Amino acid sequence: MNASDTTAGDELAPGFGRTWTESMIATFAVEAARLGELDRLSGDGDFGRNLTSAYARVEQEVATARPRTYREWLTCVSRGFLGTGGTSGPLFGMFFRELARCAQGDEPTPAELGAGLAAGLAVVQRYGQAEVGHKTMVDALSPAADALAVPGATLRDAAAAAARGAESTSSIIARRGRASYVGEASRGVLDPGAVAVALIVQLAADAAG
Ligand code: ADP
Ligand code: MG
Repeated sequence: MNASDTTAGDELAPGFGRTWTESMIATFAVEAARLGELDRLSGDGDFGRNLTSAYARVEQEVATARPRTYREWLTCVSRGFLGTGGTSGPLFGMFFRELARCAQGDEPTPAELGAGLAAGLAVVQRYGQAEVGHKTMVDALSPAADALAVPGATLRDAAAAAARGAESTSSIIARRGRASYVGEASRGVLDPGAVAVALIVQLAADAAG
């Protein structure tokens, strides 16, 4: 089933939480090096290592908790990040905790996922104090949440908005995080956290069918 074929009350496909989590583990195993390289060019270079250890922890959480529902799968993702260092570890940990909490049933409805994304953005901004244009993960998260808040919008719309947001970070200099210490040197480099968010939302769209 395609997310665009669901009505607001429908749950996403059975196994959505599992598919999304497993595809994040597989994708970041491949992409972590490229994202770490972006952090090396504009920050301190630890982002790839942070992602790798976060998803290794997610796999450990999954092995221990044996998740069944969406909430249980996403709780494993959240706990993996909360146990990881860097600025991104706690921010993604809190972000995924909000996403885990958004569903009433075994899998979320598109509307619940939209509310979860908005709550995730809010917690990242509350703790990180970043606005759109500061060259952080917020530059991808905020347009994704806005896109999904439009009635009838799908996760594909949110993924496209997140990708455009991530792309926009190349031309600006960082105002938050370690990349802000390097000033002009961050211009021309994509923000790795924003690129990671665009991948995460794309994988959610793919998992929805
Ligand atoms: P650190 O900056 O501590 O080395 P990481 O390398 O783990 O952290 O993560 C870097 C990413 O975290 C950046 O690409 C950016 O997207 C995100 N980030 C950094 N600071 C903030 C902030 N204050 N608010 C939101 N996101 C942030
Ligand atoms: Mg870093």
